[in-house]
Amino acid sequence: MAKPKAGIVGAGIAGASCAGALSAGGWDVDVFDKGHGAGGRLASRRLESGWATLGAPFISAWNAPFREQAEDWAKKGWVAPLKGDILQGRADTGWTHARLKGHYLPTIETSELVGHVMGQAKLHLESHVIAVQPQALVLQDGSIADGYDQVICAVPGPQAISLLDALSPLREQLAGVRYRPVWAFLMRCEGGPDADIIKFDDNLLDMAVRQTTADPDLWLVHSSYEFAESHVEASEIEAKTRAAAALMGLLGLSRPVEVEASHMWLYARSENSVGGYWLRDDESRVILIGDGISGAGIERAWESGVQLAQAILEAKV
Ligand SMILES: Cc1cc2nc3c(=O)[nH]c(=O)nc-3n(C[C@H](O)[C@H](O)[C@H](O)COP(=O)(O)OP(=O)(O)OC[C@H]3O[C@@H](n4cnc5c(N)ncnc54)[C@H](O)[C@@H]3O)c2cc1C
Repeated sequence: MAKPKAGIVGAGIAGASCAGALSAGGWDVDVFDKGHGAGGRLASRRLESGWATLGAPFISAWNAPFREQAEDWAKKGWVAPLKGDILQGRADTGWTHARLKGHYLPTIETSELVGHVMGQAKLHLESHVIAVQPQALVLQDGSIADGYDQVICAVPGPQAISLLDALSPLREQLAGVRYRPVWAFLMRCEGGPDADIIKFDDNLLDMAVRQTTADPDLWLVHSSYEFAESHVEASEIEAKTRAAAALMGLLGLSRPVEVEASHMWLYARSENSVGGYWLRDDESRVILIGDGISGAGIERAWESGVQLAQAILEAKV
């Protein structure tokens, strides 16, 4: 008998966890992503010196079952629990030590980690989906992937809306989901406090995480939501110049900071969500998952994919 088939849009942690669990349960799964690699907001970037991330720097895992999943990844050598203190404050007013609990740091490229999560599912990269239909996905190059028993959309809410033209009940339920943006930078600087993670008391920059996997002088720097919201339309040069000057001041550096990469995450963190693990249109049977449905963060996005796969395998949806 032919295996049941699923088509999933989005190779972030939600799409990947769903794809991995479905393929382990005997389904034939295709995952389409417009990016060059798996991971979405957890994606990594290759550099000459190693790899770095511009997205989520940590995997936050507070509760079962994701906590157990993170422990299992730690045993496999894919992540490591975050140990020790982080610094909080700024150079001109001083630093205090703080603890971040329930966080893991990826020890392999995050796109590789998400690839592992996807298991035997087939990943189609650089495959931009422009419409989601009951049993098919329409791609930007004009091709159609069809014959699916189940179509699943695992992209941020506002991006999903544009794919659901013919599926108005889903569009209406997604309309109230809001995300906040973050500008992310890879910045190179020498000096500053002896720390790997710094949380700033500042309204322009939020945090800096040393990219030890690439180079100890390279930092991932995230802006505050407010900085990003006031620089949504700004050019990259304007945003990075402002952010580099802010970092110099916050760390008390005398030499200028070099910016090696920048990225604007328009949909960085969901501020609210639809609720539940997934959202299904009864007529078309199309299902939505991800942090716009289940709530902010990697843990909730992962759970939405796993819970949906379990329900499909148990024929509960
Ligand atoms: C700067 C930043 C910092 C963060 N920090 C943390 C943190 O410390 N802890 C934490 O728990 N969470 C953090 N998050 C949030 C976390 O990364 C997300 O909640 C989680 O990764 C969402 O996963 P997802 O699978 O729902 O969506 P995504 O990761 O966004 O995956 C969606 C995928 O769909 C693809 N896609 C979109 N549209 C299409 C299309 N039309 N066709 C094909 N593919 C498409 C995208 O390329 C992407 O790969 C952070 C996020 C950012 C950006």
